[in-house]
Amino acid sequence: MGNVVYDGLTFEPFITREKIAARVIELAQELRRDISDDNPLFVCVLNGSFIFAADLFRACDFPDAEITFIRLKSYEGTSSTGQVKQVLGLNENVEGRTVVIIEDIVDTGVTAVELRRLFEDNNAKSVKMVTLLFKPSSLKCGKEPEYVGFAIPPAFVLGYGLDIDEKARGLSDIYALKKD
Ligand code: 5GP
Repeated sequence: MGNVVYDGLTFEPFITREKIAARVIELAQELRRDISDDNPLFVCVLNGSFIFAADLFRACDFPDAEITFIRLKSYEGTSSTGQVKQVLGLNENVEGRTVVIIEDIVDTGVTAVELRRLFEDNNAKSVKMVTLLFKPSSLKCGKEPEYVGFAIPPAFVLGYGLDIDEKARGLSDIYALKKD
């Protein structure tokens, strides 16, 4: 597995597809163990989470789970906390339901705070977050995700759904920006 180059930047192999696949199975087992609800609602946060969500949802194999999709756009510079708008909104009634938010990566935590608030405001019974990647040292607000695939240092990563300017999402492995 060699390096890849995007926008003139070099990225080196970071997490292999085999490691990702093994961790996805473990996360699915944890979710099956912890969630007793018959029909939890999984929420895939587009765009970056679509590959992880597909793999995780299949691995969980809940008999009556549902999955839906939401897309947020953050506006920087409009407020100090960052303002997040729903571009593809939530149509499901989440009242009284267990909601499992599927994220690709939690960095500052701004998006996660906004997502949790959305489901709590709509009276979900419980809201859990599962993220493939988490940068603990970058977290500025909110709490840690309940389920974390890999805790990583604050490097920029791509692949397995994660992009650089909408590119590189199709890479099967995860790569990290190479330091000089
Ligand atoms: P937040 O700062 O709100 O926790 O994360 C916001 C979004 O920034 C994430 O959902 C993700 O789209 C993007 N992001 C954060 N860190 C990275 C990274 O290392 N690589 C990529 N491709 N996106 C990232």
